[in-house]
Amino acid sequence: MAEQRAIQVEGLHRYFGEIHAVEGVSFGVEQGEIFSLLGPNGAGKSTTISVISGLLRPTQGDAQVMGHSVIEQPGEAKKYIGVVPQDIALYEDLTGRENLNFWGKMYGIRGAALKKRVDEILEIIGLTERQKHKVGTYSGGMKRRMNIGVALLHKPKVVIMDEPTVGIDPQSRRNILESVKALNREGMTVLYTTHYMEEAQELSQHIAIMDRGKIIARGTHDELVQIVGELDRLELTLAQDGAKVLDAWRGVEGVEKLSTEDGVVTLLVGDSNLVLPKLFEAANQVNARVSSVEIFEPNLETVFLHLTGRALRD
Ligand code: ADP
Ligand code: MG
Repeated sequence: MAEQRAIQVEGLHRYFGEIHAVEGVSFGVEQGEIFSLLGPNGAGKSTTISVISGLLRPTQGDAQVMGHSVIEQPGEAKKYIGVVPQDIALYEDLTGRENLNFWGKMYGIRGAALKKRVDEILEIIGLTERQKHKVGTYSGGMKRRMNIGVALLHKPKVVIMDEPTVGIDPQSRRNILESVKALNREGMTVLYTTHYMEEAQELSQHIAIMDRGKIIARGTHDELVQIVGELDRLELTLAQDGAKVLDAWRGVEGVEKLSTEDGVVTLLVGDSNLVLPKLFEAANQVNARVSSVEIFEPNLETVFLHLTGRALRD
């Protein structure tokens, strides 16, 4: 028999009244891997992991953590997981160390074991030097790192992180990505959600791309990029009044998809060297000015555009 999966989600649905936040999601996370749920805001990532974490009941379907159903055995399932929520839950008037002590005691860790564990955690999250400062004085990124530390106190087998790098400084972001990798090297399974394709690419062995409550593709990074084969992605910026060229561009031979946002037009094209001259020709005919051009090799962004017709980024 294959090894027990760390997480198994089967036919999961979660509705909020009329809103179908999650609609028939299934995936498995192997023990010891980093698995990313990649998708734009509103895709249903947080709802999915809230069900896995036992914070929300599914409308339909089930999730298992180390073989324990979140519906049938929620207490057992919870024992194995540490959850890093998007929102920060820390005491600002306590120091970093005091916060970890507090939450450690909540988990029933005491005395020398607690001291040792708190020392380890402070190392992992890179806050040993700031441990005696009040959390209220920390930057947003440092608070995020504390949040991760709290989730690790009871040495969970599986840690679930919900977009832990949103809105923080580059140094904290780097620290978080490196600690995720370090934890994983020590054997921890990680379920990571993000809307940054670079993070999914850097961290994970498997990626599920989620959109509008559904998983639209999953596999390794390379398997996913194979979906678009040889298509290039172009990003063209139009000067004012440029929008009038969009219809003409849609009709250009070799253009597979076109989406536009804030004056930046993203296109999926067969061969950029053949298509670009035609795009410029079409622009010139209506006096639309292109102010910048970028060509990208196929990546997860391209895959998302190919599957949905929309751009993944904010
Ligand atoms: P993501 O984490 O991928 O950004 P969410 O799971 O937070 O997506 O949200 C998915 C959809 O469900 C969104 O349309 C969101 O507005 C809706 N949603 C999430 N939580 C609630 C809630 N408690 N009540 C109503 N709608 C919700
Ligand atoms: Mg979310």
